[in-house]
Amino acid sequence: MSAEQIMPGVSRLLAPNPSPMTLTGTNTYLVGEANLLVVDPGPDLPEHIEAIVALAQTLGRLAYSVVTHHHGDHLPAALRLRDRLGAPIVGHPTLPGVDRPCADGNTVTAGQTTLRAVATPGHTSDHMCFFLEEEKALFTGDLIAGQGTVIVGDGPGDLADYMDSLRRVASLHARLLLPGHGPVVANAASKIREYLDHRALREGQVVSALSDGPATARALVERLYADTPRVLHAMAERNVRAHLFKLAHEGRVSEHGRGWQLNDGREAR
Ligand SMILES: [Zn+2]
Repeated sequence: MSAEQIMPGVSRLLAPNPSPMTLTGTNTYLVGEANLLVVDPGPDLPEHIEAIVALAQTLGRLAYSVVTHHHGDHLPAALRLRDRLGAPIVGHPTLPGVDRPCADGNTVTAGQTTLRAVATPGHTSDHMCFFLEEEKALFTGDLIAGQGTVIVGDGPGDLADYMDSLRRVASLHARLLLPGHGPVVANAASKIREYLDHRALREGQVVSALSDGPATARALVERLYADTPRVLHAMAERNVRAHLFKLAHEGRVSEHGRGWQLNDGREAR
């Protein structure tokens, strides 16, 4: 596996964990010169960890592992790198194994390189993006993927948090997005707009489907994701539930025996 240089001081190693959810695999980024940060070390796969160690030792010394969130395709290799190279783990205060908890706005520095943490809950409650200010490049983890969309948590408030997180990163005016999965995004602003529009479109579809009568989340998936491979329907159901929770929080829908229904009085008659 070879490293790909994205820009001076940023290289990418692709982890060998491709799947419908991880696309071509997890993107692991090495950032800096001589004193290095690794963003999202990735899954616990020996050949990937060896590749990170080899590249870090070629370039210099690994100062920190910076982790966007706790999922198994982002965090576990950080624990191995701490054992092998002594690199402390930087991330959200609730990130399992974190050595340097960081809050929104905190920075982590190695040599000439500084990353600023941006709290971006929604995909998970511990999700953080990291902004390489001098390059106006944002490491987006699973907030934004290089292609397609991402899974949002299906707890009450998760989708509303996720939308707020997208608006927050839009306000950074990043030039480049360096996602956890998929290709680098050169036009950051239009990608973020596309994500906001996509969620608004899905929400409109959910409301429109419920205007035909009550439905369960599963039934809504069958209808709205008819063109999506069935293997992805369980994940799609999480997204539909996330929309339903958001709409319920806004008082626009409620759940009853037959499923979810609009609160516009139509069902009460
Ligand atoms: Zn994730």
